[in-house]
Amino acid sequence: MRPDTPAEHIAEAERLIRTAHRYPEDQEPLLLQAAAHLELADARDRASALYDQLLAGAPANLHLIKALQAANLWEYGHEAEARALISGIRDAAPTDPAPWEVIAEALEAHDELDASHEAFTQAATLLVADDAPLTPATTALLTGRHRVRRLLGLPHDDWDMVADTRHTGPIPLDELHDPKRIWALGSNDPAELRAEIARLRAELGDRRAALSRPFPVALLHWPAAELAELLTAYPTLATEYPSHDSHLAQIEASLRALAASGTTNLGIVTGNVPSYEAFAASERTSPASPSLLAEYATTLAARGKATPWPPTPTSPCWCTSGKPYGSCHGQ
Ligand SMILES: [Zn+2]
Ligand SMILES: [Zn+2]
Repeated sequence: MRPDTPAEHIAEAERLIRTAHRYPEDQEPLLLQAAAHLELADARDRASALYDQLLAGAPANLHLIKALQAANLWEYGHEAEARALISGIRDAAPTDPAPWEVIAEALEAHDELDASHEAFTQAATLLVADDAPLTPATTALLTGRHRVRRLLGLPHDDWDMVADTRHTGPIPLDELHDPKRIWALGSNDPAELRAEIARLRAELGDRRAALSRPFPVALLHWPAAELAELLTAYPTLATEYPSHDSHLAQIEASLRALAASGTTNLGIVTGNVPSYEAFAASERTSPASPSLLAEYATTLAARGKATPWPPTPTSPCWCTSGKPYGSCHGQ
């Protein structure tokens, strides 16, 4: 179950914070995810405290955490601190695209379009090379830059053309990013206008959500021997896993359905019985309870244990059959 209401986000954040105490070596991804849940529950002061806690250590994702902290602080009125963090990140010029996107979008969200454009352009200048292929993260920088340039009424440049070409989706980027689209169509229907604004917001929201949660949605995979051991010990779980083959087929089908619905950052975590039993004990729940399985998967993913899905067609299938993904579950 994915948290939805503020109370569910708070509960999930608290669970992740408890987990971080048990697995200090995995603290950074756990607390980053907990902070994202706190932000989603609008508990911004608590999210801020977590970011500060991480920054007081020596986090692996220093600039991303600073950027998330800046965006979070600005959302609840701490503009001066947010600006100081943002200019510090720009001076440091990190080579990770994610902090750049977070700060450029924070500036954009607060109508600082020129500063947002500068940040996107500085990032692209630093990270987009003519002779290296674009990654999803660098493409996102060019897409954000394209959006801000349309809002500023600037003409297309070469990077805008690249963003247009790289964009996949039912609506072309120029249409999606055209702030005057509705007027150009000659519409004065308020409902249509609202729908358009909602669409733009949704696009922005999806990006922001993907950024502030750089954590996979992961499905739980049991290798055959582990599944047999699990079902022998806890026969009630057989309702979830009629057979190992159907378990594997179900994982692939669920991941494809999630991908088709636009969920990014998908992954697979591998379970084993002792670690599952330890998790059940820490949650004070019986391992025989089917509802614990999803929480176990979420916790493994939050600890950074997920393998990204899908594999490329020629790399080994995630099911460990030894066959290439393209001729196994990727068929
Ligand atoms: Zn364009
Ligand atoms: Zn397979």
